[in-house]
Amino acid sequence: MSERSPIQQRAGAALVSQARTGLVVMKFGGTSVEDAKAMLRTAAIVGGRRERGLSPIVVVSAMAKVTDQLLAAASSAGRGDKAGALAIAARLRNRHIETAAELLRGDLFAEIEAAIRKRFDALDDLLRGIAAVGELTPRTSDHVVSFGERVSSQVVAAAFAQHGLNGVHVDARKCVITDDHYGKAVPQESAIEAKLSELVLPLVEMGKTPVLGGFIGATIEGIPTTLGRGGSDYTAALVGGGLHAGAIEIWTDVNGIMTTDPRICADALRVKTISFEEAAELAYFGAKVLHPATILPAVQKSIPVWVLNSHNASNEGTKITPTAPPCASPFKSIAAKKKLTIIDIVASRMLMTHGYLKSVFDVFDRFQCAIDLVSTSEVSVSLTVESNAQLPAICAELSKIADVKFEGNKALICMVGEDIRGQSGISGRVFSAIRHINVRMISQGASEINMSFMIEESDVNEAVRSLHAEFFAEPDPTVFDVEARAVAAKA
Ligand code: ADP
Ligand code: ASP
Ligand code: MG
Repeated sequence: MSERSPIQQRAGAALVSQARTGLVVMKFGGTSVEDAKAMLRTAAIVGGRRERGLSPIVVVSAMAKVTDQLLAAASSAGRGDKAGALAIAARLRNRHIETAAELLRGDLFAEIEAAIRKRFDALDDLLRGIAAVGELTPRTSDHVVSFGERVSSQVVAAAFAQHGLNGVHVDARKCVITDDHYGKAVPQESAIEAKLSELVLPLVEMGKTPVLGGFIGATIEGIPTTLGRGGSDYTAALVGGGLHAGAIEIWTDVNGIMTTDPRICADALRVKTISFEEAAELAYFGAKVLHPATILPAVQKSIPVWVLNSHNASNEGTKITPTAPPCASPFKSIAAKKKLTIIDIVASRMLMTHGYLKSVFDVFDRFQCAIDLVSTSEVSVSLTVESNAQLPAICAELSKIADVKFEGNKALICMVGEDIRGQSGISGRVFSAIRHINVRMISQGASEINMSFMIEESDVNEAVRSLHAEFFAEPDPTVFDVEARAVAAKA
């Protein structure tokens, strides 16, 4: 066996004895709660877990596309377009009421309809306030966007109550305590653990199914925050970690973690088992199927995470485990991260003197701007960052110590697999598969399980398909669902 990686060592140090094996945290993404039909499908999946004697705690996203629409309403209001903002909010109000009407009857419908109207009245007031000031701060943006998960979780909880699952709504803002870094707040894990024990555990012990909105939290003073886009997965991991659950299930709209994004490559195959470390790397480098921060709380408590398909619940999905199974294929999956910018910093006069790189990194630190890839030569440093509005200011600051230029519309391709450790000849195969594509920066990650390089954003689909054809033509059937490909070929 190879040496245990830091992530595996943390998993090994977990407090396994504290695990509540009957508890399962089930997170359902936007498409799994997009309308009444999807919510009923979700109820059936949760009911199935209860029939097996498990105690589910459910985390839901906003209904599909609602977060984007709330952000659009917030920015319209921020531009002073009150009518535009309120029109979006009115459509969202109707969509939620219509969904509740399809799912609920009698007093329960009346109660939830009133609650939805109250929430949307509050949202309208908030949007009017933003439009009057004509300015949108990250704090008010989080407040606006929090309505998506607050309302979806209420409707889902009521649907679960109506359909025999003892559903009960829990306000995530009371449990998920964060700092005040609006837009990407940092969860305070010990406070969350205490709140979950106080507010969620007693409900489980009473045989209820608690339903929380994902993605949202609040500061200790109760001001709404969000965990970053796609953050409901993170909520699920925080809840699972905080309660020492036996399993965390991420229910989405594909069969699991696939060999690449099936939207880019129709041939993508389900990966049956993947290690925490591989999944973390993939998520960080752009595989949207999992939020990058999801893994850590699960790793710390050694909780297995499953990625499953709510549209195809009988599929086994992907199991994420502390150690990877032996695999004859070098890579498990290919991720692509778009909207990146390359910054070239040339310090011709001073060469790379001691402390020079520190002063470069300090600038990024001051702007709280994360760097993905770095390559250095004697006189230059090239870095990649997510494209963002602060880049001109960052570059102006850097130009005090060097010549700087930056170029957007770049993408990072990241190929992940524990089995590339120590294998020679892999990079030759990678670059010959994409020899027709212009490659900018190349890096073999410090974790030794990824190989990454930068290309033009417009080349992403072509590069991913070529690499997929090279490395997944004959994949190891113990790790990849090749049966699905055989079925598709026959059809
Ligand atoms: P949810 O709303 O359930 O959180 P997301 O849209 O955030 O769902 O994530 C699921 C999507 O992630 C899939 O529909 C798929 O297009 C995309 N995706 C990207 N990379 C992968 C991958 N390696 N495996 C599976 N899905 C992927
Ligand atoms: N609704 C949020 C988003 O769209 C969080 C999530 O779905 O995970 O980003
Ligand atoms: Mg997601």
